Amino acid sequence: MKQIMSVAFVALLAACQTAPVQTPVTEAAAVATAAPTEPSGGQQWLFGSAESSVVMRQTWATIAGYVEAKAAEAPTYGVVLTPDSSPVQPGFLACEGKPLAAVFDADETLIWNLGSMAAFGRMGIGFDPAIWDDWERTGAGKAVAIPGALDALTRIREAGVTVIVNTNRAAENAAGTEATLKAAGIGEFSHGSTLFLRGDAPDGSGKDGRRMMISENYCVIALVGDQLGDIADPFNAKTLSVLDRKVLTEAPAIADLWGNGWFVLPNPVYGPSIRGDFDDIYPEATHWAPSAASGLPAAN
Ligand SMILES: [Mg+2]
Repeated sequence: MKQIMSVAFVALLAACQTAPVQTPVTEAAAVATAAPTEPSGGQQWLFGSAESSVVMRQTWATIAGYVEAKAAEAPTYGVVLTPDSSPVQPGFLACEGKPLAAVFDADETLIWNLGSMAAFGRMGIGFDPAIWDDWERTGAGKAVAIPGALDALTRIREAGVTVIVNTNRAAENAAGTEATLKAAGIGEFSHGSTLFLRGDAPDGSGKDGRRMMISENYCVIALVGDQLGDIADPFNAKTLSVLDRKVLTEAPAIADLWGNGWFVLPNPVYGPSIRGDFDDIYPEATHWAPSAASGLPAAN
């Protein structure tokens, strides 16, 4: 049962760009089943493990160090792709003397949604958009800052860099998201100036439109998220296979930006990173089966 729940959960969320929500679910998928006795393996790792906490603190320290160094350079160009460019042939927006900003996704980037994740799990459902909408409005105090984030944000602000949030939470729930970020200690945010939400630009759950809005007033020197859509929308093109999507991140013109302006935090629980069958995940050249000497039946 646990495995079935896990598959349903990730399938429902895989289509989401960033916030674990906007995709309608089928009635059958939303029907409650017997509640699992423990969280999924991905949730145990992400929200519970010491290893995850260490990875987060490592990454956040790297982000803070990068931003401090970059701010001291008074950069000429930021790290937001120009609208007419792509990861293969990138162009970057010029700073033009604008104040510096770092742009962060919210869910599973700045905060862990422990309240809603546990509620879904305990109810034995994969995901429900109405429940998530309720969470966006009422979850303040039940989401926590990701390990390392608060210290890093302090360093980033002390470097004179404005912290801006670009999330796929709904614009209609701006007050709830502002309250959630404040309660988690992330800071005070204002919709339309330091907080950008789904609905603020016409490209739906795409974030490039909002990145352009932010770039009208700021030179963005860092983009941080748990999904590639937090960096640039072309990474989430529906036509990309599992492998092609990975290869695109290795395009020579942008390969050096990872950890150097573009930062991704681990999320093994939901999102477009969670997909692929055995053939997608395991290259044919690595296929292996137990030998007869193992005493086990040979795998196909
Ligand atoms: Mg996210």
